[in-house]
Amino acid sequence: IKATFTPIKRGEKELVGLIAVLSDVTEEEKLDRQRKDFVANVSHELRTPLTTIKSYLEALKDGAINEPDIATHFLNVADTEAERMARLISDLLQLSRLDARESYFEKQPISLEHLLKPVYERFSMTCKQKEIVLTLSIEEDLPIVVVDRDKLDQVLDNVISNAVKYTPEAGSIKIKAEQHGEKHVQVSIEDTGLGIPKQDLGRLFERFYRVDKARSRTLGGTGLGLSIAQEIIHSHGGDIWIDSEYTKGTTVFFTLPVRSEASGMD
Ligand code: ADP
Repeated sequence: IKATFTPIKRGEKELVGLIAVLSDVTEEEKLDRQRKDFVANVSHELRTPLTTIKSYLEALKDGAINEPDIATHFLNVADTEAERMARLISDLLQLSRLDARESYFEKQPISLEHLLKPVYERFSMTCKQKEIVLTLSIEEDLPIVVVDRDKLDQVLDNVISNAVKYTPEAGSIKIKAEQHGEKHVQVSIEDTGLGIPKQDLGRLFERFYRVDKARSRTLGGTGLGLSIAQEIIHSHGGDIWIDSEYTKGTTVFFTLPVRSEASGMD
């Protein structure tokens, strides 16, 4: 708690009162710390791939360039790392636009079928390669939702690609849509993957928070996917949460508001 005092005087000298302002600075300090942590994290996340690229380029300059097989491998590593940096920067830009409320949301009425079918088809291929069984089930007669299609595609992309990343071969992933109360539809993505330890569950939506940093990096993650998903779902007036059992599997749930009769839109 911070206290500031302002004297109230009558004339030049006579003190007749004191105004005391007590302000709770814990919230302010917390925000300040979060901002500093964020900058430190961004720098670290960008420097890691850059250091790798630089050391492989050094090795090439030092002679590896004359060994075609090794040179090709080194160039591929550098390329992958450069791609990671590009992905990170594009995720950061998107988060910053969402934070600043500069993202434009073009919300339109759409059925769950139209929203989920194309994503399901897109991921079917990847899942087949990993021998993961992907299913889609949509409850009958679900109301229409009002969403920005591209933004929702991104939420689904982030969440389903996590399910694919963190589910070993021969597992299964279920995408489901069902009614949730009167005003919302609930979408869930359930996998039979690695699961998340209880103590990490509350922190998954924090920027750059990962259960296993090394694993996430190897799998190409930026640690920002769920933060972006959360911002987008909240901007739609929905909620997003995760349930998981370590070593058994994870389910990500989110809700979307349905089109209301009154407005015809939202
Ligand atoms: P990342 O790019 O690392 O995947 P996200 O923000 O998308 O970042 O997710 C944050 C962390 O949450 C991941 O690093 C991972 O530890 C955990 N996680 C997310 N989805 C799943 C899942 N389906 N199964 C297991 N762990 C998950």
